[in-house]
Amino acid sequence: MIVVDEFRGRLVGVLGLAKSGRAAAQSLAAGGAEVLAWDDNEAVRKALAAELTLRNLAEADWRDIPALVLSPGIPHSFPEPHPAVVRARDADAEIIGDIELLGRAQPEARYIGITGTNGKSTTTALIAHILEAAGRRVAVGGNLGTPALSLAPLGRDGSYVLEASSFQLELITTLAFDIALLLNITPDHLDRHGDMEGYVAAKRRIFARQDKAATAIIGIDDAICRELSDELRRTGPARVVPISVLEPVSGGVYIDSGWLIDAFGAKPERVLDLALAERLPGAHNWQNACAAYAAARSCGIDTAAATAAICSFPGLAHRQELVGTIDGVRYINDSKATNADATEKALLCYPAIYWIVGGLAKAGGIAPLAPHFGRLRHAFLIGRATEEFAATLGGSVPFTRCGDLAAAVAAASAQARHDGVPDAVVLLSPACASYDQFKNFEERGDAFRRLVAGLHEAPPG
Ligand code: ADP
Repeated sequence: MIVVDEFRGRLVGVLGLAKSGRAAAQSLAAGGAEVLAWDDNEAVRKALAAELTLRNLAEADWRDIPALVLSPGIPHSFPEPHPAVVRARDADAEIIGDIELLGRAQPEARYIGITGTNGKSTTTALIAHILEAAGRRVAVGGNLGTPALSLAPLGRDGSYVLEASSFQLELITTLAFDIALLLNITPDHLDRHGDMEGYVAAKRRIFARQDKAATAIIGIDDAICRELSDELRRTGPARVVPISVLEPVSGGVYIDSGWLIDAFGAKPERVLDLALAERLPGAHNWQNACAAYAAARSCGIDTAAATAAICSFPGLAHRQELVGTIDGVRYINDSKATNADATEKALLCYPAIYWIVGGLAKAGGIAPLAPHFGRLRHAFLIGRATEEFAATLGGSVPFTRCGDLAAAVAAASAQARHDGVPDAVVLLSPACASYDQFKNFEERGDAFRRLVAGLHEAPPG
């Protein structure tokens, strides 16, 4: 845990008491602050009543409270600010998040921040893996896994590798990332940022306050990031490292025919055949690999160590995670794919797919995936989206209505084993939210993993 002592003897409001808020309350209290905590959810308050001083911050007297530590899930501007935020702002209290507090409490550490619409978690985990493999002192967290203030204190020789959502970036006011990565930007969370301009403004804050010793790594394959990269190159002061999977870039890292190319020097060098990075399939993951490689090189890790670690990356759960191979058929858990966009990335990776799909459909369903239907051997439909998806697939892809995941795994496995096509995969990539049958995508992916393990145990035939 990080001890935050800059508010010793003073009041601090902590609003939102999920994992990161609770960690903030603990860190501040350990540093001698008098924490006034609140969550609008009564059940949460009840559960924490014994350990925290609860105060409704929307009604508190903010004249004596210099800071509000806000959970990233709570709106500070759009669609409308939380009433406690309005009160705090009117009283000139600073409004900050947990990453900002970490930066203040551990000023000597190195900070590597990762943002983007997609690929944040993978890239964050990959960078941490490369640094750890190179023997560096690393703590990884933020939006991914461990909250910033639950990480270990690292001091001067340590590196914090932090996934930062746009909401978290808006709550950082003084921390400057030594290495900042922006992977890509596509429209997302517009309700919380007002509009696309607001979303881009939040994302670009990852580069705020960087000085000339800092590095800005930016994927330039979408128009918004490309423009931003050009602007940063013109206006400085950080060193800008462009990343592309589509075209050569000078001074950066790019992909050519499936190879990762290091173009930091005058002569671009082929450094890694990405087919060897088995847990990073697909062009979307190549973007993540290029960005992580650039970050590792910026930390002084040599090419051989960085590329070896990219190949040994174990991957993240629920993102095209290989959970078993039985009779030559691979079973892939891509439960994190909760919309057609994410599922498309997985479909593009495999030529012969037994596809488990369904749940609570998003607007548009799976119609945008029609160009890839040729890769599908058979679809196994689950959940509430069944009839909608049956209509979309009808006439193009054979399908079975399975009802639930257990039936789908059994049916897909039987069919794939029966067909005996080379390179077959049973792919859970639902293109849907999970809430009709599961608590969340993790529970759905864990269930898939267990069902596949059960197949191993089944007697042959
Ligand atoms: P995030 O943390 O930003 O949600 P993840 O690393 O968890 O991203 O990946 C989530 C999903 O997003 C993956 O399963 C994949 O479908 C897609 N994805 C991953 N990396 C990228 C990328 N660089 N560009 C586009 N899509 C990506």
